[in-house]
Amino acid sequence: MVHPLPATMQAVSVREIGSFQFERRPVPQPGPGEVLLRVTVTGLCRTDLKIIQVGHRDLVLPCVPGEEVVGEVVALGPQVDATLLNQRCYVYPGEWCGICPACRSGAENLCRSMRIMGFHRDGGFADYVVAPLKSLIPLPEGLSDEQAVFAEPLSCCLNALELARLAPFETIAIWGGGPAGQLLARAASAYDALPTVIEPDPQRRELAKGVAEPPDQLFDVCVVAVGNNSAYQQALASLAPRGRLVVFSGLSKETPAITTDFNQLHYLEQTVVGAYGCCYRHGRQAISLLQSSKLAVNDLISHRMPLSRLAEALELVANRQCMKIHLYPESCRP
Ligand SMILES: [Zn+2]
Repeated sequence: MVHPLPATMQAVSVREIGSFQFERRPVPQPGPGEVLLRVTVTGLCRTDLKIIQVGHRDLVLPCVPGEEVVGEVVALGPQVDATLLNQRCYVYPGEWCGICPACRSGAENLCRSMRIMGFHRDGGFADYVVAPLKSLIPLPEGLSDEQAVFAEPLSCCLNALELARLAPFETIAIWGGGPAGQLLARAASAYDALPTVIEPDPQRRELAKGVAEPPDQLFDVCVVAVGNNSAYQQALASLAPRGRLVVFSGLSKETPAITTDFNQLHYLEQTVVGAYGCCYRHGRQAISLLQSSKLAVNDLISHRMPLSRLAEALELVANRQCMKIHLYPESCRP
């Protein structure tokens, strides 16, 4: 269905750290190799809260946040194939150079010239968003926009599990039962590994069928999905010989140091590996997993809200009173 394009749109704008405004602004024009998407749904994540409240290493102001985006292609820039018009797409949030050493090694998330939607360029907390053609992943029939928008947080989990070299039948402990922890556990199960989620909150723990405290057991893989120094200490102590610890959540800028017994790493041949963001291929893998019956996500959506209620939604994230919140532009009410 073709939607007539209005001249202006509603967008969330962060002009200085600590606040945001709703602004009426011209609908952006796609440049060469770009498309314009009408946003149908965006996911809200803890990073958005961080971006607005305290800033982020990769944030360039002013900016429209929103890096979890599904939409429909409604206009094409020069040199873009017209068959994409009206196509529903998930947008991989990165725009990478393709030629730097990181890109050539298959780690475009670490591209020297990386430009992330919602950080370096405008994101999806708006009626429309411009995205590079090469970042689009068309959605298959049968996969809803609501399911597909999980591709972004799920991709970050798939990157972490790839870096952990998680194999079938291995045990994996995940600290934190927020949306990322839940997705890490479900992705691990989809890969036939054996996840245990460690989460103090009873509701989150129940959803993950998790435990309140680390069990008296060693794990092949430990992933910390909560920005908590003591969780990292527990995870190091829970690593099996040849175990891999994934640094998935960052720590506060004030206290990022963890004491590590390097002799333990030495004698037990353990690995500590960082994970940040995701590559384009993880988006494809995520869409394929979401389309299969191996990874359900609908029960992770705790709130569906219009974008105009962003302040309230951010409160829910800040107070951990939600699981996944989906936001809808005015033009696309749930
Ligand atoms: Zn690059």
